[in-house]
Amino acid sequence: MVIIKKVSAKAILDSRKEKTILVLIQTNIGNFSASAPNGKSKGKREAKSYKKNIEGDIKAIKDFEDYFTEEVIEKFEDLRRIEDIVEGHVGANTIFALESAVLKAIAKEQNKQIWQVINPKSKSFPRLVGNCIGGGKHSDSTSPLNKNSGCKPDFQEFLLIPNLKSVKDSFAKIRKLKENLKQILKEKDEKFKGEKNDEDAWTTSLNEKQVLDVLNDLKIPIGVDIAASSFYKRKKYNYFNPMLKRDEKEQLNYLKNLIKNFNLFYIEDPFGEENFESFSELLKKFPDRLIIGDDLTVTNPKLLEKAIRKKSINGIIVKPNQNGSLLKVKKVCDIAKKNNIKIIFSHRSGETPETILADLAFGFGANFFKCGITGKEREAKIKRLIEIEEFFNS
Ligand code: PEP
Ligand code: MG
Repeated sequence: MVIIKKVSAKAILDSRKEKTILVLIQTNIGNFSASAPNGKSKGKREAKSYKKNIEGDIKAIKDFEDYFTEEVIEKFEDLRRIEDIVEGHVGANTIFALESAVLKAIAKEQNKQIWQVINPKSKSFPRLVGNCIGGGKHSDSTSPLNKNSGCKPDFQEFLLIPNLKSVKDSFAKIRKLKENLKQILKEKDEKFKGEKNDEDAWTTSLNEKQVLDVLNDLKIPIGVDIAASSFYKRKKYNYFNPMLKRDEKEQLNYLKNLIKNFNLFYIEDPFGEENFESFSELLKKFPDRLIIGDDLTVTNPKLLEKAIRKKSINGIIVKPNQNGSLLKVKKVCDIAKKNNIKIIFSHRSGETPETILADLAFGFGANFFKCGITGKEREAKIKRLIEIEEFFNS
């Protein structure tokens, strides 16, 4: 059993150089720590990262220390006791980091891997979803011109989704393709400077159709995270590259054409985060493609149930720190599996070297693992997934 003796937290910097939280616990069997990532194109209904601010959460963790020391923890379900103590007093990032550290302690105490604490019978590996070219909010800081300059794609992410048997081979394949893209972009985009965005994807001045044209030549299943809420204002989708507005119906028609013309396999957040009906229309038309909710569902069991009732999606993004509670993450995964909704575990745009996402994805039986392609924070997670794969092969 694990007995927590001391708990503390501190601010560290994520890959975007923004503050995030690291929680450390001292237990009867050693010290453990875990950190949380930060989103930028956040859903409106995501749980708040911190109750008020990071400093307040750090203090709250300290204030509650004596409560933790009374708890004996033995299994995943015991995270309930942790949540009972901190719920309402700290935000989602803090709960996520704290529970992740506790999971690491349980695993160590039982001489197991973290995913085995969640589900020792897990055996199928998620397919990689790798961000190779980016636009939208994730390319603000590195875009050659200012925000909304029209000099970047309006869609947030262009994704490579290899379909090879092993994670290791899939990773090697998308790394190579992403490296090749550098030369291709140099040829097609005169403004291309080899710069990368928040998720280490290439930035370009091409628009989404031009990017999709490039990706179609790679002969690999592809997808997009449109992150449409980030450019949906006053009931219009405000495109800048080229500059035009689309209403709901025009957006639907535009996407129907894109899906057909570029054979898109994966479409995340194609409409505003309240527009469940438009998602349903698209899914009705393309039941054989993945129509995925991220800002729409924000890893929230109730919103997932709503999306299921309305037949809005057949895939859900799971970002553990969108709600913080790993018990709720389990609930979301259970509901998704029961309703044949594909599960996509996902990194955030501001990441840390934390690798627990790979264990969570494998333990909860994710179908896909969306995690960028390069950059040390993203690579660490994929490498952890490969390590789990090697554990099965050894
Ligand atoms: C996303 O929208 O899928 C994403 C990773 O964005 P962020 O982490 O910035 O919310
Ligand atoms: Mg998204």
